[in-house]
Amino acid sequence: MSADPILPGSTIGILGGGQLGRMTAMAARSMGYRIQVMDPDPSCPARFVVDACFEGGWDDAKAAGQMARGCDVVTLEIEQVSLACLDAVAKHAPMRPGKQLLGIIQDRIAQKKWLKDHGLPVGEYREIYSADDLEQALSDFGNDCFVKSARGGYDGRSQVRVTPETAAEEKRGAWASLGSTPCVAEKGLALEREISVMVARSPSGETVCFPSATNHHEHQILVWSVLPSHISAELEAMAQKIAGDIAQAIEVEGLLAVEMFVTRSGELLVNELAPRPHNSYHASEQACATSQFEQHVRAVCDLPLGSVEILRPAAIANLLGDVWLKGEPRFDRALAVPGVALHLYEKHTPRKGRKMGHLSAIGETPEEAVARVMDASSRL
Ligand code: ADP
Ligand code: MG
Repeated sequence: MSADPILPGSTIGILGGGQLGRMTAMAARSMGYRIQVMDPDPSCPARFVVDACFEGGWDDAKAAGQMARGCDVVTLEIEQVSLACLDAVAKHAPMRPGKQLLGIIQDRIAQKKWLKDHGLPVGEYREIYSADDLEQALSDFGNDCFVKSARGGYDGRSQVRVTPETAAEEKRGAWASLGSTPCVAEKGLALEREISVMVARSPSGETVCFPSATNHHEHQILVWSVLPSHISAELEAMAQKIAGDIAQAIEVEGLLAVEMFVTRSGELLVNELAPRPHNSYHASEQACATSQFEQHVRAVCDLPLGSVEILRPAAIANLLGDVWLKGEPRFDRALAVPGVALHLYEKHTPRKGRKMGHLSAIGETPEEAVARVMDASSRL
């Protein structure tokens, strides 16, 4: 047991009140904690399940400090919170994860460099600081690149995909279209599959890795995800080792999601890190003895970490705003599929590409779970 765990009845603060903050808050509530969040949107998804919501942007150190004043510990659900906010929080309560880790992770250039310097496998990439740098990288990588802004960006936003078919003027404009700010250009990889490993590490240093999830993306957005992955024991062991090593070396307090690529040539490469709950582990609520959200609470409160044993396979499919644009979704039809459950985030304005909720499904096998959740999704 740790020296001074933060026990139920205490108050947890969360920077960010989106769906990840909301689901963490719901897990914390069922364990008897009180929760406060800070978010730029006063009617953010977490708003409806927390004790207090402070309105503040990601660089509003004053609001972050005000929120933290009433908290016993503060965590986050988004990595783009300014370091000034973390400093403001740290005056009142332990900030988990901390500033040093966030400084590395919130900048793709710093993150890739950290991974490389620590001997972790990453795909070929170049740091881009000018249109000329990008031209050189495109030529080095045969015009097959993912150009990603160093800062901001999620769900494939702030990224430009360049292929040999991309028009010359679009290629020339790629740097400007990303705001002429620092970027990384990654060589386009031929992927066999994408996996992720969620790791929890508590301030006492206990580290637990969940079994890997297999993730299917289309147009750079996660479509479905399943737990466990159907991969060889050898690959699973490699993925677990990489994720555990990263969590320990970077000394995360809380959760760390490690996104990885398995290439067609059999390499396992780290794509990116996220120090928070992750879309690819939503199925942990159905599949595992401890969900990622409960694990997040346990880790930041320095409680013993929960079992990550798979009780049964489960999959999720994201519900994007696109579904609503065709009329009110037929949830009744989706819920008729055996083993399916609905999770909505109480976002009131559906927009194209906006994550509004997800469906989950359990199955006898990972394949059956995916088939059920996609069947349900197609009935909406
Ligand atoms: P985000 O922060 O938006 O999740 P990612 O870097 O994870 O950005 O990219 C989103 C998705 O785009 C990945 O999950 C993958 O499907 C695809 N992708 C990104 N980089 C590459 C690459 N170098 N080679 C092949 N596919 C990639
Ligand atoms: Mg990603």
